[in-house]
Amino acid sequence: MSLVTKSAAELAALLDAREVSSVEVTQAHLDRIAAVDGDVHAFLHLNADALDTASAIDKARAEGAASGLAGVPVAIKDVLCTLDMPSTSGSKILEGWIPPYDATVVARMRAAGLVPLGKTNMDEFAMGSSTEHSAYGNTHNPWDLSRIPGGSGGGSAAAVSAFEAPLALGSDTGGSIRQPAAVTGSVGVKPTYGGVSRYGAIALASSLDQVGPVTRTVLDAGLLHDVIGGHDPHDSTSIPDAWPSFADAARAGQREGAVRGLRVGVVSELAGGEGFQPGVVQRFQEALALLEAQGAEIVEVSAPSFQYAIAAYYLILPAEASSNLAKFDSVRFGLRVTPDGQPTVEDVMSATREAGFGDEVKRRIILGTYALSAGYYDAYYGSAQKVRTLIQRDFDAAFAKVDVLATPSAPTTAFPLGSKVDDPLAMYLNDLTTIPANLAGVPGISLPSGLAPEDGLPVGIQFMAPAREDARLYTVGAALEQLLEAQWGGPLLANAPALA
Ligand code: GLN
Repeated sequence: MSLVTKSAAELAALLDAREVSSVEVTQAHLDRIAAVDGDVHAFLHLNADALDTASAIDKARAEGAASGLAGVPVAIKDVLCTLDMPSTSGSKILEGWIPPYDATVVARMRAAGLVPLGKTNMDEFAMGSSTEHSAYGNTHNPWDLSRIPGGSGGGSAAAVSAFEAPLALGSDTGGSIRQPAAVTGSVGVKPTYGGVSRYGAIALASSLDQVGPVTRTVLDAGLLHDVIGGHDPHDSTSIPDAWPSFADAARAGQREGAVRGLRVGVVSELAGGEGFQPGVVQRFQEALALLEAQGAEIVEVSAPSFQYAIAAYYLILPAEASSNLAKFDSVRFGLRVTPDGQPTVEDVMSATREAGFGDEVKRRIILGTYALSAGYYDAYYGSAQKVRTLIQRDFDAAFAKVDVLATPSAPTTAFPLGSKVDDPLAMYLNDLTTIPANLAGVPGISLPSGLAPEDGLPVGIQFMAPAREDARLYTVGAALEQLLEAQWGGPLLANAPALA
Protein backbone atom coordinates (compact mmCIF):
# COMPACT_ATOMS: atom_id res chain seq x y z
CA MET A 1 0.00 0.00 0.00
CA SER A 2 2.66 2.49 0.92
CA LEU A 3 4.21 2.89 -2.53
CA VAL A 4 0.84 3.56 -4.14
CA THR A 5 0.00 6.39 -1.74
CA LYS A 6 3.10 8.33 -2.76
CA SER A 7 2.88 11.23 -5.15
CA ALA A 8 4.70 11.09 -8.48
CA ALA A 9 7.20 13.65 -7.17
CA GLU A 10 7.94 11.41 -4.17
CA LEU A 11 8.23 8.32 -6.35
CA ALA A 12 10.61 10.16 -8.69
CA ALA A 13 12.81 11.09 -5.71
CA LEU A 14 12.85 7.47 -4.44
CA LEU A 15 13.70 6.20 -7.92
CA ASP A 16 16.43 8.80 -8.24
CA ALA A 17 17.94 7.77 -4.89
CA ARG A 18 17.73 4.09 -6.04
CA GLU A 19 15.62 3.33 -2.97
CA VAL A 20 13.02 1.64 -5.14
CA SER A 21 12.99 0.36 -8.70
CA SER A 22 10.41 1.13 -11.34
CA VAL A 23 9.59 -2.58 -11.43
CA GLU A 24 8.65 -2.42 -7.73
CA VAL A 25 6.63 0.76 -8.16
CA THR A 26 4.84 -0.60 -11.24
CA GLN A 27 4.16 -3.96 -9.57
CA ALA A 28 2.69 -2.18 -6.53
CA HIS A 29 0.25 -0.31 -8.78
CA LEU A 30 -0.64 -3.45 -10.75
CA ASP A 31 -1.35 -5.19 -7.43
CA ARG A 32 -3.52 -2.29 -6.34
CA ILE A 33 -5.42 -2.44 -9.64
CA ALA A 34 -5.93 -6.19 -9.18
CA ALA A 35 -7.24 -5.57 -5.67
CA VAL A 36 -9.66 -2.69 -6.29
CA ASP A 37 -10.45 -2.31 -9.97
CA GLY A 38 -13.09 -5.03 -9.87
CA ASP A 39 -15.10 -2.56 -7.75
CA VAL A 40 -13.96 0.73 -9.28
CA HIS A 41 -13.67 -0.25 -12.99
CA ALA A 42 -11.38 2.64 -13.84
CA PHE A 43 -9.52 0.65 -16.53
CA LEU A 44 -10.70 -0.67 -19.89
CA HIS A 45 -7.36 -2.25 -20.89
CA LEU A 46 -4.20 -3.01 -18.99
CA ASN A 47 -0.77 -2.73 -20.55
CA ALA A 48 0.68 -6.23 -20.71
CA ASP A 49 4.17 -4.75 -21.21
CA ALA A 50 4.16 -2.46 -18.18
CA LEU A 51 6.71 -4.49 -16.19
CA ASP A 52 9.02 -4.93 -19.20
CA THR A 53 8.93 -1.19 -19.79
CA ALA A 54 9.66 -0.58 -16.10
CA SER A 55 12.59 -2.95 -16.19
CA ALA A 56 14.05 -1.24 -19.27
CA ILE A 57 13.76 2.10 -17.48
CA ASP A 58 15.49 0.72 -14.37
CA LYS A 59 18.37 -0.28 -16.64
CA ALA A 60 18.45 3.15 -18.27
CA ARG A 61 18.47 4.81 -14.85
CA ALA A 62 21.35 2.63 -13.70
CA GLU A 63 23.27 3.84 -16.77
CA GLY A 64 22.41 7.46 -16.01
CA ALA A 65 20.16 7.65 -19.09
CA ALA A 66 16.89 8.34 -17.29
CA SER A 67 15.77 10.96 -14.80
CA GLY A 68 12.74 12.98 -13.69
CA LEU A 69 9.47 11.07 -13.87
CA ALA A 70 11.13 8.10 -15.64
CA GLY A 71 9.81 4.88 -14.13
CA VAL A 72 6.64 6.43 -12.66
CA PRO A 73 3.42 4.76 -13.86
CA VAL A 74 0.63 6.61 -15.64
CA ALA A 75 -2.95 5.83 -16.68
CA ILE A 76 -4.18 7.05 -20.07
CA LYS A 77 -7.73 8.06 -20.99
CA ASP A 78 -8.98 5.86 -23.81
CA VAL A 79 -9.54 8.91 -26.03
CA LEU A 80 -5.77 8.96 -26.68
CA CYS A 81 -4.25 6.84 -29.42
CA THR A 82 -1.75 4.23 -28.27
CA LEU A 83 0.20 1.99 -30.63
CA ASP A 84 0.23 -0.98 -28.27
CA MET A 85 -3.25 -0.88 -26.74
CA PRO A 86 -6.80 -0.56 -28.06
CA SER A 87 -8.15 2.98 -28.21
CA THR A 88 -11.93 2.95 -28.16
CA SER A 89 -12.92 6.40 -26.87
CA GLY A 90 -15.51 4.48 -24.84
CA SER A 91 -17.40 3.46 -28.01
CA LYS A 92 -18.44 0.14 -29.49
CA ILE A 93 -17.69 1.53 -32.92
CA LEU A 94 -13.96 1.39 -32.07
CA GLU A 95 -14.02 -1.86 -30.08
CA GLY A 96 -10.56 -3.46 -30.26
CA TRP A 97 -9.17 -0.79 -32.59
CA ILE A 98 -5.40 -0.43 -32.28
CA PRO A 99 -4.20 2.86 -33.78
CA PRO A 100 -1.23 2.95 -36.17
CA TYR A 101 0.41 5.74 -34.13
CA ASP A 102 0.79 7.20 -30.64
CA ALA A 103 -0.80 10.51 -29.70
CA THR A 104 1.93 13.13 -29.27
CA VAL A 105 1.26 13.30 -25.51
CA VAL A 106 1.68 9.52 -25.26
CA ALA A 107 4.88 9.57 -27.33
CA ARG A 108 6.25 12.32 -25.09
CA MET A 109 5.43 10.36 -21.95
CA ARG A 110 7.12 7.26 -23.31
CA ALA A 111 10.17 9.32 -24.28
CA ALA A 112 10.29 10.66 -20.70
CA GLY A 113 10.22 7.07 -19.40
CA LEU A 114 6.75 7.08 -17.86
CA VAL A 115 5.25 3.60 -17.65
CA PRO A 116 1.75 3.26 -19.16
CA LEU A 117 -0.44 1.09 -16.91
CA GLY A 118 -3.42 0.98 -19.23
CA LYS A 119 -6.36 2.87 -20.72
CA THR A 120 -9.14 4.36 -18.64
CA ASN A 121 -12.91 4.37 -18.98
CA MET A 122 -14.81 7.38 -20.26
CA ASP A 123 -18.15 8.52 -21.61
CA GLU A 124 -18.47 7.53 -25.25
CA PHE A 125 -16.45 10.02 -27.36
CA ALA A 126 -16.09 12.11 -24.18
CA MET A 127 -19.77 13.12 -24.16
CA GLY A 128 -21.01 13.21 -20.60
CA SER A 129 -20.37 14.16 -16.99
CA SER A 130 -20.65 10.79 -15.27
CA THR A 131 -18.90 8.12 -17.42
CA GLU A 132 -22.28 6.37 -17.57
CA HIS A 133 -22.36 6.88 -21.36
CA SER A 134 -19.40 4.51 -21.77
CA ALA A 135 -20.19 1.48 -23.91
CA TYR A 136 -18.11 -0.56 -21.45
CA GLY A 137 -19.92 -0.18 -18.15
CA ASN A 138 -19.87 2.28 -15.28
CA THR A 139 -16.88 3.48 -13.32
CA HIS A 140 -17.52 3.91 -9.60
CA ASN A 141 -16.40 6.78 -7.40
CA PRO A 142 -13.83 5.42 -4.91
CA TRP A 143 -15.34 7.63 -2.16
CA ASP A 144 -18.71 5.94 -2.54
CA LEU A 145 -19.10 3.15 -5.08
CA SER A 146 -22.76 4.01 -5.63
CA ARG A 147 -21.80 7.45 -6.98
CA ILE A 148 -20.51 8.72 -10.32
CA PRO A 149 -16.77 9.44 -10.71
CA GLY A 150 -17.56 12.43 -12.93
CA GLY A 151 -17.09 12.49 -16.65
CA SER A 152 -16.20 12.18 -19.28
CA GLY A 153 -12.84 11.23 -17.79
CA GLY A 154 -14.21 9.32 -14.81
CA GLY A 155 -11.78 6.45 -15.33
CA SER A 156 -8.66 8.61 -15.07
CA ALA A 157 -9.94 10.44 -11.97
CA ALA A 158 -11.06 7.21 -10.30
CA ALA A 159 -7.71 5.53 -11.05
CA VAL A 160 -5.82 8.38 -9.41
CA SER A 161 -8.13 8.78 -6.41
CA ALA A 162 -8.26 5.00 -5.79
CA PHE A 163 -4.43 4.93 -5.77
CA GLU A 164 -4.31 2.73 -8.87
CA ALA A 165 -2.06 5.27 -10.60
CA PRO A 166 -0.21 8.34 -9.34
CA LEU A 167 -0.70 10.16 -12.65
CA ALA A 168 -3.27 10.08 -15.42
CA LEU A 169 -4.06 11.87 -18.64
CA GLY A 170 -7.47 13.25 -19.49
CA SER A 171 -9.10 15.45 -22.10
CA ASP A 172 -11.31 18.43 -21.39
CA THR A 173 -13.78 19.82 -23.92
CA GLY A 174 -16.27 21.22 -21.44
CA GLY A 175 -14.95 20.06 -18.08
CA SER A 176 -14.01 16.39 -18.49
CA ILE A 177 -10.75 16.76 -16.60
CA ARG A 178 -11.83 19.29 -13.96
CA GLN A 179 -15.26 17.96 -12.95
CA PRO A 180 -14.09 14.34 -12.43
CA ALA A 181 -11.14 15.70 -10.43
CA ALA A 182 -13.54 17.74 -8.30
CA VAL A 183 -15.89 14.88 -7.45
CA THR A 184 -13.09 12.41 -6.66
CA GLY A 185 -10.89 14.73 -4.57
CA SER A 186 -8.09 14.87 -7.13
CA VAL A 187 -6.38 17.61 -9.15
CA GLY A 188 -7.08 18.28 -12.83
CA VAL A 189 -5.81 20.86 -15.26
CA LYS A 190 -7.23 22.00 -18.59
CA PRO A 191 -4.33 23.81 -20.25
CA THR A 192 -4.60 26.87 -22.49
CA TYR A 193 -6.04 25.89 -25.88
CA GLY A 194 -3.01 25.09 -28.03
CA GLY A 195 -0.75 24.46 -25.04
CA VAL A 196 -0.85 20.67 -25.29
CA SER A 197 -0.98 18.77 -28.57
CA ARG A 198 -4.29 17.30 -29.71
CA TYR A 199 -2.57 15.08 -32.30
CA GLY A 200 -3.81 11.55 -31.68
CA ALA A 201 -6.57 12.60 -29.28
CA ILE A 202 -9.76 11.26 -30.84
CA ALA A 203 -11.59 14.52 -31.55
CA LEU A 204 -14.85 15.49 -29.89
CA ALA A 205 -15.04 19.23 -30.67
CA SER A 206 -11.76 20.42 -32.13
CA SER A 207 -12.08 24.08 -31.14
CA LEU A 208 -12.65 23.13 -27.48
CA ASP A 209 -10.63 19.93 -26.82
CA GLN A 210 -7.47 20.03 -24.69
CA VAL A 211 -5.44 17.20 -23.15
CA GLY A 212 -4.20 17.64 -19.59
CA PRO A 213 -3.05 16.03 -16.34
CA VAL A 214 -5.10 14.33 -13.61
CA THR A 215 -3.15 13.79 -10.39
CA ARG A 216 -3.34 13.88 -6.60
CA THR A 217 -1.16 16.97 -6.10
CA VAL A 218 -0.73 20.28 -7.91
CA LEU A 219 3.03 19.72 -8.21
CA ASP A 220 2.45 16.34 -9.89
CA ALA A 221 0.13 18.00 -12.40
CA GLY A 222 2.87 20.54 -13.17
CA LEU A 223 5.45 17.79 -13.61
CA LEU A 224 3.22 15.89 -16.03
CA HIS A 225 2.23 19.07 -17.92
CA ASP A 226 5.93 19.83 -18.41
CA VAL A 227 6.34 16.40 -20.07
CA ILE A 228 3.32 16.52 -22.40
CA GLY A 229 3.10 20.24 -23.23
CA GLY A 230 4.76 22.46 -25.78
CA HIS A 231 4.69 22.97 -29.51
CA ASP A 232 3.81 20.10 -31.82
CA PRO A 233 4.05 20.61 -35.58
CA HIS A 234 1.45 17.82 -36.02
CA ASP A 235 -1.23 20.04 -34.44
CA SER A 236 -1.97 23.16 -36.48
CA THR A 237 -3.50 24.89 -33.43
CA SER A 238 -0.45 24.24 -31.24
CA ILE A 239 1.12 27.42 -29.83
CA PRO A 240 4.71 27.71 -31.11
CA ASP A 241 6.11 29.70 -28.15
CA ALA A 242 8.18 28.25 -25.30
CA TRP A 243 6.46 27.66 -21.95
CA PRO A 244 7.81 28.10 -18.43
CA SER A 245 8.16 25.05 -16.15
CA PHE A 246 4.82 24.38 -14.49
CA ALA A 247 6.48 22.26 -11.81
CA ASP A 248 8.57 25.31 -10.90
CA ALA A 249 5.41 27.41 -10.84
CA ALA A 250 3.87 24.92 -8.39
CA ARG A 251 7.00 24.97 -6.21
CA ALA A 252 6.82 28.77 -6.18
CA GLY A 253 3.30 28.45 -4.76
CA GLN A 254 4.63 26.46 -1.82
CA ARG A 255 6.82 29.36 -0.71
CA GLU A 256 5.86 31.80 2.02
CA GLY A 257 3.92 34.78 0.73
CA ALA A 258 3.14 33.23 -2.67
CA VAL A 259 -0.35 34.70 -2.91
CA ARG A 260 0.31 38.05 -1.24
CA GLY A 261 -1.17 40.77 -3.44
CA LEU A 262 -2.74 38.23 -5.85
CA ARG A 263 -6.07 39.53 -7.14
CA VAL A 264 -8.63 36.71 -7.15
CA GLY A 265 -11.88 37.46 -8.98
CA VAL A 266 -15.00 35.69 -7.82
CA VAL A 267 -17.40 35.33 -10.74
CA SER A 268 -20.69 36.39 -9.20
CA GLU A 269 -22.75 34.44 -11.78
CA LEU A 270 -20.98 31.18 -10.82
CA ALA A 271 -20.44 31.57 -7.09
CA GLY A 272 -23.67 30.04 -5.81
CA GLY A 273 -27.42 30.31 -6.19
CA GLU A 274 -29.73 28.03 -8.13
CA GLY A 275 -28.29 24.57 -8.75
CA PHE A 276 -25.39 24.93 -6.30
CA GLN A 277 -25.24 22.59 -3.32
CA PRO A 278 -24.85 24.65 -0.10
CA GLY A 279 -21.84 22.65 1.14
CA VAL A 280 -20.03 23.25 -2.16
CA VAL A 281 -20.52 27.01 -1.79
CA GLN A 282 -19.46 26.88 1.86
CA ARG A 283 -16.14 25.13 1.08
CA PHE A 284 -15.57 27.56 -1.79
CA GLN A 285 -15.99 30.59 0.47
CA GLU A 286 -13.77 29.08 3.16
CA ALA A 287 -11.00 28.50 0.62
CA LEU A 288 -11.25 32.12 -0.53
CA ALA A 289 -11.07 33.30 3.09
CA LEU A 290 -7.91 31.27 3.53
CA LEU A 291 -6.31 32.98 0.53
CA GLU A 292 -7.46 36.36 1.80
CA ALA A 293 -5.85 35.68 5.18
CA GLN A 294 -2.58 35.16 3.28
CA GLY A 295 -2.82 38.57 1.67
CA ALA A 296 -4.73 37.78 -1.54
CA GLU A 297 -7.29 40.35 -2.57
CA ILE A 298 -10.75 38.90 -3.25
CA VAL A 299 -12.68 40.93 -5.81
CA GLU A 300 -16.19 40.30 -7.07
CA VAL A 301 -16.43 40.37 -10.86
CA SER A 302 -19.42 39.95 -13.13
CA ALA A 303 -19.43 37.95 -16.35
CA PRO A 304 -22.98 38.42 -17.60
CA SER A 305 -22.58 36.31 -20.76
CA PHE A 306 -21.58 33.20 -18.81
CA GLN A 307 -25.29 32.49 -18.26
CA TYR A 308 -25.48 31.60 -21.97
CA ALA A 309 -22.38 29.40 -21.95
CA ILE A 310 -24.20 26.06 -21.67
CA ALA A 311 -26.62 26.99 -24.46
CA ALA A 312 -23.81 28.10 -26.77
CA TYR A 313 -21.64 25.07 -25.93
CA TYR A 314 -24.44 22.58 -26.61
CA LEU A 315 -24.77 23.99 -30.13
CA ILE A 316 -21.07 24.40 -30.96
CA LEU A 317 -20.05 21.05 -29.51
CA PRO A 318 -22.68 18.94 -31.34
CA ALA A 319 -21.95 20.84 -34.57
CA GLU A 320 -18.25 20.02 -34.39
CA ALA A 321 -18.84 16.52 -33.04
CA SER A 322 -21.27 15.62 -35.81
CA SER A 323 -18.63 16.40 -38.43
CA ASN A 324 -15.76 14.82 -36.48
CA LEU A 325 -17.73 11.60 -36.05
CA ALA A 326 -18.60 11.36 -39.76
CA LYS A 327 -15.35 9.44 -40.26
CA PHE A 328 -16.76 6.44 -38.38
CA ASP A 329 -18.35 5.13 -41.53
CA SER A 330 -17.42 1.40 -41.40
CA VAL A 331 -15.19 1.78 -44.45
CA ARG A 332 -11.69 2.52 -43.22
CA PHE A 333 -11.57 1.23 -39.65
CA GLY A 334 -13.62 0.20 -36.68
CA LEU A 335 -16.85 -1.75 -36.57
CA ARG A 336 -18.62 -2.92 -39.74
CA VAL A 337 -22.15 -4.27 -39.63
CA THR A 338 -23.36 -5.77 -42.91
CA PRO A 339 -27.13 -6.18 -43.14
CA ASP A 340 -28.57 -9.27 -44.88
CA GLY A 341 -29.39 -9.25 -48.55
CA GLN A 342 -27.62 -7.03 -51.05
CA PRO A 343 -26.78 -3.97 -48.93
CA THR A 344 -25.42 -0.82 -50.51
CA VAL A 345 -22.50 1.01 -48.92
CA GLU A 346 -25.03 3.44 -47.39
CA ASP A 347 -26.92 0.48 -45.86
CA VAL A 348 -23.69 -0.78 -44.30
CA MET A 349 -22.80 2.67 -42.98
CA SER A 350 -26.15 3.25 -41.44
CA ALA A 351 -26.37 -0.23 -39.88
CA THR A 352 -22.85 0.25 -38.46
CA ARG A 353 -23.57 3.67 -36.99
CA GLU A 354 -26.90 2.44 -35.63
CA ALA A 355 -25.19 -0.45 -33.81
CA GLY A 356 -21.91 1.28 -32.97
CA PHE A 357 -23.02 4.59 -31.42
CA GLY A 358 -24.86 4.96 -28.13
CA ASP A 359 -27.87 7.19 -27.46
CA GLU A 360 -26.00 10.29 -26.28
CA VAL A 361 -23.73 10.24 -29.32
CA LYS A 362 -26.70 9.86 -31.68
CA ARG A 363 -28.51 12.67 -29.88
CA ARG A 364 -25.58 15.04 -30.40
CA ILE A 365 -25.04 14.01 -34.04
CA ILE A 366 -28.69 14.82 -34.76
CA LEU A 367 -28.51 18.12 -32.85
CA GLY A 368 -25.28 19.11 -34.55
CA THR A 369 -26.42 18.20 -38.05
CA TYR A 370 -29.60 20.18 -37.49
CA ALA A 371 -27.74 23.22 -36.14
CA LEU A 372 -25.47 23.19 -39.20
CA SER A 373 -28.19 22.63 -41.80
CA ALA A 374 -28.62 25.34 -44.43
CA GLY A 375 -31.77 27.03 -43.16
CA TYR A 376 -30.72 27.04 -39.51
CA TYR A 377 -26.99 27.69 -39.60
CA ASP A 378 -27.21 31.41 -38.76
CA ALA A 379 -29.98 31.03 -36.21
CA TYR A 380 -28.17 28.36 -34.19
CA TYR A 381 -24.50 27.88 -34.95
CA GLY A 382 -23.97 31.55 -35.93
CA SER A 383 -25.67 32.82 -32.76
CA ALA A 384 -23.71 30.42 -30.59
CA GLN A 385 -20.45 31.69 -32.09
CA LYS A 386 -21.50 35.26 -31.28
CA VAL A 387 -22.20 34.26 -27.68
CA ARG A 388 -18.77 32.66 -27.62
CA THR A 389 -17.24 36.02 -28.53
CA LEU A 390 -19.22 37.74 -25.75
CA ILE A 391 -17.92 35.18 -23.26
CA GLN A 392 -14.37 35.81 -24.42
CA ARG A 393 -14.95 39.54 -23.90
CA ASP A 394 -16.25 38.93 -20.38
CA PHE A 395 -13.02 37.07 -19.64
CA ASP A 396 -10.94 39.92 -21.09
CA ALA A 397 -12.79 42.48 -18.99
CA ALA A 398 -12.40 40.36 -15.85
CA PHE A 399 -8.70 39.74 -16.41
CA ALA A 400 -8.14 43.47 -16.79
CA LYS A 401 -9.04 43.67 -13.10
CA VAL A 402 -7.81 40.40 -11.56
CA ASP A 403 -5.01 37.85 -11.94
CA VAL A 404 -7.13 34.72 -11.66
CA LEU A 405 -10.82 33.89 -11.49
CA ALA A 406 -12.32 31.46 -8.98
CA THR A 407 -15.50 29.38 -9.01
CA PRO A 408 -16.58 26.08 -7.49
CA SER A 409 -15.39 23.40 -9.97
CA ALA A 410 -18.83 21.80 -10.17
CA PRO A 411 -22.19 22.81 -8.70
CA THR A 412 -22.62 19.59 -6.68
CA THR A 413 -20.68 16.68 -5.26
CA ALA A 414 -20.81 13.27 -6.96
CA PHE A 415 -24.43 12.33 -7.62
CA PRO A 416 -25.74 8.76 -7.43
CA LEU A 417 -25.19 6.50 -10.46
CA GLY A 418 -28.39 6.34 -12.48
CA SER A 419 -29.82 9.60 -11.16
CA LYS A 420 -29.25 11.80 -14.24
CA VAL A 421 -28.33 9.43 -17.03
CA ASP A 422 -31.83 9.51 -18.56
CA ASP A 423 -32.15 13.29 -18.27
CA PRO A 424 -29.74 14.92 -20.75
CA LEU A 425 -30.53 18.47 -19.64
CA ALA A 426 -29.82 17.72 -15.97
CA MET A 427 -26.52 16.16 -17.07
CA TYR A 428 -25.61 19.21 -19.20
CA LEU A 429 -26.32 21.63 -16.33
CA ASN A 430 -23.40 20.10 -14.44
CA ASP A 431 -21.02 21.79 -16.81
CA LEU A 432 -22.06 25.30 -15.81
CA THR A 433 -18.78 26.29 -14.20
CA THR A 434 -16.31 24.50 -16.47
CA ILE A 435 -17.61 25.33 -19.98
CA PRO A 436 -16.69 29.06 -20.10
CA ALA A 437 -12.95 28.26 -20.01
CA ASN A 438 -13.25 25.95 -23.05
CA LEU A 439 -15.29 28.46 -25.01
CA ALA A 440 -12.61 31.11 -24.41
CA GLY A 441 -9.55 28.83 -24.65
CA VAL A 442 -8.28 29.86 -21.21
CA PRO A 443 -6.68 27.43 -18.74
CA GLY A 444 -8.39 26.08 -15.61
CA ILE A 445 -7.39 23.96 -12.64
CA SER A 446 -9.55 22.08 -10.14
CA LEU A 447 -8.19 21.07 -6.76
CA PRO A 448 -9.91 19.72 -3.64
CA SER A 449 -11.35 22.32 -1.26
CA GLY A 450 -12.71 19.89 1.35
CA LEU A 451 -15.63 17.56 1.97
CA ALA A 452 -19.20 18.82 1.75
CA PRO A 453 -20.77 18.81 5.21
CA GLU A 454 -24.04 17.33 3.94
CA ASP A 455 -22.64 14.17 2.36
CA GLY A 456 -18.94 13.94 3.23
CA LEU A 457 -17.98 13.90 -0.46
CA PRO A 458 -15.16 15.87 -2.12
CA VAL A 459 -15.67 19.42 -3.36
CA GLY A 460 -13.41 21.14 -5.89
CA ILE A 461 -12.40 24.75 -6.37
CA GLN A 462 -11.56 26.01 -9.84
CA PHE A 463 -9.15 28.77 -10.81
CA MET A 464 -8.92 30.18 -14.32
CA ALA A 465 -6.21 32.42 -15.79
CA PRO A 466 -5.72 34.31 -19.03
CA ALA A 467 -4.61 32.26 -22.04
CA ARG A 468 -0.93 31.25 -21.81
CA GLU A 469 -0.83 32.06 -18.07
CA ASP A 470 -1.20 28.43 -16.94
CA ALA A 471 1.76 28.95 -14.59
CA ARG A 472 -0.40 31.21 -12.40
CA LEU A 473 -2.81 28.34 -11.83
CA TYR A 474 -0.04 26.09 -10.57
CA THR A 475 1.23 28.77 -8.20
CA VAL A 476 -2.14 29.67 -6.68
CA GLY A 477 -3.22 26.01 -6.70
CA ALA A 478 -0.12 24.80 -4.87
CA ALA A 479 -0.41 27.66 -2.37
CA LEU A 480 -4.02 26.88 -1.54
CA GLU A 481 -3.36 23.13 -1.44
CA GLN A 482 -0.65 23.71 1.15
CA LEU A 483 -2.89 25.94 3.29
CA LEU A 484 -5.78 23.45 3.14
CA GLU A 485 -3.60 20.43 3.88
CA ALA A 486 -2.21 22.23 6.94
CA GLN A 487 -5.81 22.51 8.15
CA TRP A 488 -6.73 18.92 7.30
CA GLY A 489 -3.51 17.49 8.71
CA GLY A 490 -2.54 15.99 5.31
CA PRO A 491 -3.97 15.38 1.85
CA LEU A 492 -7.74 15.05 1.53
CA LEU A 493 -7.34 11.66 -0.13
CA ALA A 494 -5.35 10.34 2.83
CA ASN A 495 -8.70 9.92 4.56
CA ALA A 496 -10.57 8.51 1.58
CA PRO A 497 -12.60 5.40 2.29
CA ALA A 498 -10.86 3.82 -0.71
CA LEU A 499 -7.85 3.37 1.55
CA ALA A 500 -9.77 1.36 4.11
N1 GLN B 1 -19.80 17.19 -19.85
C1 GLN B 1 -19.34 17.81 -21.04
C2 GLN B 1 -20.02 17.21 -22.24
O1 GLN B 1 -20.73 16.29 -22.06
C3 GLN B 1 -17.86 17.72 -21.07
C4 GLN B 1 -17.25 16.89 -22.12
C5 GLN B 1 -15.77 16.93 -22.15
O2 GLN B 1 -15.12 17.79 -21.54
N2 GLN B 1 -15.21 16.01 -22.91
O3 GLN B 1 -19.88 17.64 -23.34
